[in-house]
Amino acid sequence: MIDMIRFDVLTLFPAMFEAVLGDSIIARARKKNLLEMHFIDIRDFSTNKHRKTDDYPYSGGGGMLMTPQPIYDAYQSVAAGCKKKPHTIFLSPQGKPFCQKRAVELSKMEHIVLLCGHYEGIDQRVLDLIVDEEISMGDFVLTGGELPAMAVIDAVSRMVPGVLSQESSYENESHFAGLLEYPQYTRPEEFMGMRIPDVLISGHHAKIEEWKRRESLRITKEKRPDLLEKAELTPKDRAYLMELEQKKSF
Ligand code: SAM
Repeated sequence: MIDMIRFDVLTLFPAMFEAVLGDSIIARARKKNLLEMHFIDIRDFSTNKHRKTDDYPYSGGGGMLMTPQPIYDAYQSVAAGCKKKPHTIFLSPQGKPFCQKRAVELSKMEHIVLLCGHYEGIDQRVLDLIVDEEISMGDFVLTGGELPAMAVIDAVSRMVPGVLSQESSYENESHFAGLLEYPQYTRPEEFMGMRIPDVLISGHHAKIEEWKRRESLRITKEKRPDLLEKAELTPKDRAYLMELEQKKSF
């Protein structure tokens, strides 16, 4: 088990990152040395006298592409000193859609480099040289890889032991065990005439656990039935889903 994870982000816009990752839970974990982060400005590695990092694509069309040299040198500034090649992720709309399972797997790595594209993207040759994995935020196109990189860092970081106050707090969360989370309630017991479910103040631990499982199943069936196909379900879960199905048909 690792006790610290290091992220190096290669970007043209390093200032964007502290605004998001320099606050709240992630900032506290960085202070506790559970997370180490470096935001590296690709422009600092340009050998062009005007610090240029983009050029026209040979294939024509509008827009500019990021050139390979500054990215390769920025990457080498990180990787050259490492015993082992850091796992290198390119944030890309062509990548595999990101998910909780991948966040958990990545949280077990010691060192991750994230490469953020911008403009029309990046010269393919540098991607072929350094990238191990492409990750997408979904089937839409953003202006840059910075927001996806922040999302990946945030999701991976909170899986590192000690980052969240109680490790158990993510185990019931949506997507962790393949289901969505049950609805949650806090004080007051009644709000705008709506009471919280009685079971939650019954003090009956087993009944509360059963309610949570059933509500998770119900909500997943309602909002994301596709997830049920891959979720690990017990015979009791299947019976409850069947019960819900039968109720619907009446
Ligand atoms: N021309 C590229 C294409 O069609 O595949 C899109 C380039 S996009 C405008 C600029 C950069 O934003 C990409 O290189 C990538 O780093 C990032 N990006 C855009 N959409 C993304 C997504 N859905 N997931 C992850 N990164 C994305």
